[in-house]
Amino acid sequence: MNNHDEFIEAKKYIPGGVNSPVRAFGSVGGEPIMIAKGEGAYLIDVENKRYLDFIQSWGPLIFGHCDIDIQNAIQSALSNGISYGAPNLNETKLAKMITKKFENIDLVRFVSSGTEATMSAIRVARGYSGKSGLIKFEGCYHGHSDALLVKAGSGATTYGNASSAGVTAGAVADTHLAIYNDIQSVKDIFNTKEIGAVIIEPIAGNMGLVPAKPEFMKELKSLCEKHNAVLIIDEVMSGFRASEFGSATYYGAIGDLVTFGKVIGGGMNVAAFGGKREIMNCLSPDGAVYQAGTLSGNPLAMAAGIAALNKIEQNPGIYSYLQNLANKLVNGFKQAADENNIALQIDVRGSMFGFFFNENPVLNYTDALKSDTKMFAKFHAAMLKRGVYLAPSQFETGFICTAMKESDIDYAIQMAKESFKEIKNQNLE
Ligand SMILES: *Cc1c(COP(=O)(O)O)cnc(C)c1O
Repeated sequence: MNNHDEFIEAKKYIPGGVNSPVRAFGSVGGEPIMIAKGEGAYLIDVENKRYLDFIQSWGPLIFGHCDIDIQNAIQSALSNGISYGAPNLNETKLAKMITKKFENIDLVRFVSSGTEATMSAIRVARGYSGKSGLIKFEGCYHGHSDALLVKAGSGATTYGNASSAGVTAGAVADTHLAIYNDIQSVKDIFNTKEIGAVIIEPIAGNMGLVPAKPEFMKELKSLCEKHNAVLIIDEVMSGFRASEFGSATYYGAIGDLVTFGKVIGGGMNVAAFGGKREIMNCLSPDGAVYQAGTLSGNPLAMAAGIAALNKIEQNPGIYSYLQNLANKLVNGFKQAADENNIALQIDVRGSMFGFFFNENPVLNYTDALKSDTKMFAKFHAAMLKRGVYLAPSQFETGFICTAMKESDIDYAIQMAKESFKEIKNQNLE
């Protein structure tokens, strides 16, 4: 089997050959590698080539591929059936594990994807506040539901423009775009519109890694309080990734509603939204806000999530281990880039790392877009050739897993040195 033929075959039956667009390597060129299996820190493709995997399924696999505890949990749940469509005890157990960790979360409801979690949280927020206006930040991604697929408009206080064909003007008419890390842009919207909800990635990971400034988050919280708007903290990526307590470690447990996904499913299809009892009580069957799912709270998925969170609870030290590796990695990248006069901005939050080919620090989406995406594409290709699998876009976050060792990081740094040298030599030719 070879990657090229398998990808061509996939393209015959699946749009673009992929079931999620960024997997297609569109922004870096080339073709995706077709995966045969995972193994700890590594992915193995259909040509039997091994790659050190810094994507880790885009975040969920904090313990790497084929973690034995998570696999055992799924296997033992499997022997009791795949799905019931009725309450199972694992739902209560996982809900308990999440609610007891966060003082701002009394109740939690499980869904099957982060998209559903944010979409539902917004519906609850609107139902609770009785106001339809929503503030979202340029460059933040909250899944692919219509109202959230809005890119940067001409100004923060104007109505957003849909950034996907097929999204109607009506669907985004209540979505107002603000600028990340810019509190004035939020004030301007609050001063002119009726806002019922604000949604934000506190540690933005979908325009590259761009953490919010603590002062900005503090002011955002008080603006929401002042205007009676529900603050939705989207932790689908940063939850149990940036730390054991996600973004709460950095900004406090400030969300009126919080969304989770990725790590809380241990690699299975689990996401959740939760918050204060008063707000969550608006949900059907107790309240008037409808939300449902045939496979929500699936017993296998719940078992995987419980196993993942149990492991985290038993080994909270993993976050300093992961953060040390992440720091080592990006500092190594930075040094290698410096040696070749290539401008690089780096950042780390727990097991999340980011790097921009940019002359200046990146504080928002406009800054991020000034990055050298051609340089990124060259670096990505050079690293892939050397067995290092980085996310195929300048605007994604990288992930460290516990299956990675110092030696893996040393290898990646060594390959970065070779890659930058190769790129520099190409430029001289
Ligand atoms: C991944 C992600 C989502 C969407 O989750 P899916 O499971 O892909 O639908 C939403 N918000 C954030 C912050 C994410 O990183």
